[in-house]
Amino acid sequence: DRIARKRDRKFDQFRKRIKDNESLKVEASVFDDATYAALYKLVQDGWVDALGGPISTGKEANVYTALGGDGAADVLGADAPEVAIKVYRINASDFRDMRDYLVGDPRFEGIGSKKSQVVIAWVRKEYANLQRARRAGVRVPYPLAVERNVLVMEYIGAEEGRAKRLAEVNVENPQTAYEVVREYMRRLHTAGLVHGDLSEYNMVIHDGELVVIDLGQAVTVHHPNARDFLERDCRNVAAFFSRQGIDVTGDELYEFVVED
Ligand code: ATP
Ligand code: MN
Repeated sequence: DRIARKRDRKFDQFRKRIKDNESLKVEASVFDDATYAALYKLVQDGWVDALGGPISTGKEANVYTALGGDGAADVLGADAPEVAIKVYRINASDFRDMRDYLVGDPRFEGIGSKKSQVVIAWVRKEYANLQRARRAGVRVPYPLAVERNVLVMEYIGAEEGRAKRLAEVNVENPQTAYEVVREYMRRLHTAGLVHGDLSEYNMVIHDGELVVIDLGQAVTVHHPNARDFLERDCRNVAAFFSRQGIDVTGDELYEFVVED
């Protein structure tokens, strides 16, 4: 009982520290109690030391920088690495229907229809997708930990700020970039995954390296719409690189991706 009280006190201090964080002040209200608890667990488990400021505020999730803990330092092989934390809102009213993206995925059978269950499964799916993509040889943020509605991953960027999206940069060598993306799409597909929202907005360039991000909605090839999603990804990517002067169509890209 005394231990429980002491734990509660520490948790209250943690919550206060986050609420007092200058760069989070305006947003502190977005965290509900369960989210504070998840963040606190990630701190205790050594993944996170301190929360930084927001990088992006989206409809379903906000992304923050943070100082990684010992666990993150071990995995990433750096002292006090910066990490990115994606915090999903359990109660966002304008969720695109996440459940539709869990259909047919053998990893997430038997997920109930409660919103919180679906969101939690979604975050686990994003983590599992990042792991699978990584193992398949696709450059993605290194997935570090997942706790309820919070995902911790490698931060892609520098002190000066997050890495720029492909859409935000002047692509210096579009042919090379295209070949890298095409190869990543093929590797993902071989590993049984379709990104499902691939475009110049979900690829970033860091240190001359192309990194694919935002794998939450990625589905396995078992998904009833996997083929449609892949065709759409191919159309989006081909359209972007066509504008960069590359001679490619969505169909050609699709053929390349699925060819074995
Ligand atoms: P959106 O709806 O804007 O696409 P989202 O909720 O789908 O957002 P992401 O695309 O995963 O979330 O992340 C939003 C933005 O945050 C990205 O475009 C990128 O700029 C930044 N970001 C995400 N993950 C990382 C990371 N690991 N390192 C650095 N920046 C990141
Ligand atoms: Mn995105």
